[in-house]
Amino acid sequence: MADYMVKAITSDGAIRVVAVDTTELCNKAQKIHNLSATASAALGRALTAVTIMGGMLKSSDDAVTLQLNGGGPIGRVVAVSNGRAQVKGYVGNPLIELPLNEKGKLDVGGAIGKDGMLSIIRDLGLKEPYIGQVPLVNGEVAEDLTYYYANSEQLPTAVALGVLVDVDYSIRAAGGFVLQLLPGAMDEDIDRVEKAVASISSVTEMLDNGKKPEDIVSQLLEGYEIEYFDNELPVYQCDCSRERTDKALISIGEKELTKLIEEDGKAEITCHFCDNVYNYTKEQLEELLKSAR
Ligand code: ZN
Repeated sequence: MADYMVKAITSDGAIRVVAVDTTELCNKAQKIHNLSATASAALGRALTAVTIMGGMLKSSDDAVTLQLNGGGPIGRVVAVSNGRAQVKGYVGNPLIELPLNEKGKLDVGGAIGKDGMLSIIRDLGLKEPYIGQVPLVNGEVAEDLTYYYANSEQLPTAVALGVLVDVDYSIRAAGGFVLQLLPGAMDEDIDRVEKAVASISSVTEMLDNGKKPEDIVSQLLEGYEIEYFDNELPVYQCDCSRERTDKALISIGEKELTKLIEEDGKAEITCHFCDNVYNYTKEQLEELLKSAR
């Protein structure tokens, strides 16, 4: 069953919801990075969040990056999506495993830490990307993102993100939603939505029980007339290539490149996102050096 994302708005324009099933893409991330259960939950929540944010981009050429840097043992968590729902990510320490937290859940907050920042980088094809940053609330990702929306975008937002890891480390269910009250929302909308968000069961439980992203939306927006946009099919996909790696090597400059040739006589570049390895011989590096001059 392929992942998919639904986007909905109430007919009165007051509330929008994006809900997504990311089970397959989280499974792919687990396999590529050989993630521990805790790391799967942490990266899976970040991937789910960035998938939804990617779904809110206006142009398919735009991209959004979510970074969590909380000083915890997992290191940096990075997730990226473009406007075509192609998603990728990595964590600093994919093997980190922690005891379950006091709620009996995978300790994502403990792994990420809360001594640091959540950053959202939006590349909208302009000269400079737009960067928004807020301090982390608890490193659990959903609460951190809620705080980001309230502070950086002044939009009251509810965020739920979940990853259910099976005993064999495969992902049983993963997904989430972002619900936003748009400027047209009234006090009664706020009340209704708060109740709906509070009463909804966990997203992973719903998906694990065979429910679909549409079911999440209709439960959240019960009683509203809902309009759906086209579904999107998010996938874990890296866009690295030999050509890009060439460019990255050229960009380190003539001096560094010369040093690399003289000291190592070769280079091995590993992509953080997909673990592809690009090997360079001395001759190939010398070829690149010509372009760096
Ligand atoms: Zn790659």
